[in-house]
Amino acid sequence: MSRHALSRPATLACGAATALLLAAATIAAPPGPTPMEPADPAINPAVAGRLADDDLPKTDEEWRRRLSPLQFEVARKKGTERAFTGKYTDTETPGTYRCICCGEPLFSSGEKFHSGCGWPSFNAPIDGVKGKTVAEHEDRSHFMIRTEVTCRRCGAHLGHVFNDGPPPTGLRYCINSASITFDPKKPAGPTKP
Ligand SMILES: [Zn+2]
Repeated sequence: MSRHALSRPATLACGAATALLLAAATIAAPPGPTPMEPADPAINPAVAGRLADDDLPKTDEEWRRRLSPLQFEVARKKGTERAFTGKYTDTETPGTYRCICCGEPLFSSGEKFHSGCGWPSFNAPIDGVKGKTVAEHEDRSHFMIRTEVTCRRCGAHLGHVFNDGPPPTGLRYCINSASITFDPKKPAGPTKP
């Protein structure tokens, strides 16, 4: 029995104990230069756009064929990618973040902010905090009470929402990069004379 077993880092960024416990609960990313696998619309049509209802998989096996192992673990099995490993943690490009499973637009770059917590963070979903694209659920896993957020349309696990965000909402939607795909905003077309 070691007394050092109970030692904890003194300083924690963003969400303090939550981040620590989350880190303990995260799953390891697969080896390779990036934890995300290439987004191939031939494998996962949701990266190309919003899927029709009839095109949504019904079983885990169908989801598994479309998603990378990390995407499947996070989005379909409520996993958490390791902090600071996600593709979109620090992106600032204007555009829209869509569900990696069904292609539904979920978050906009306009609500994204740098939280320093290691995951993409948003002030609000694309249709606002009272919108209908993102659903909330009480999550009592890992000895915490948190609010899980999912894609309302397909049930994909996205992450959690915390009340330590900046104005105007005071909320921080802490979202796994593995659960979303990004469409950069298209440049404005030529203006007519
Ligand atoms: Zn979805």
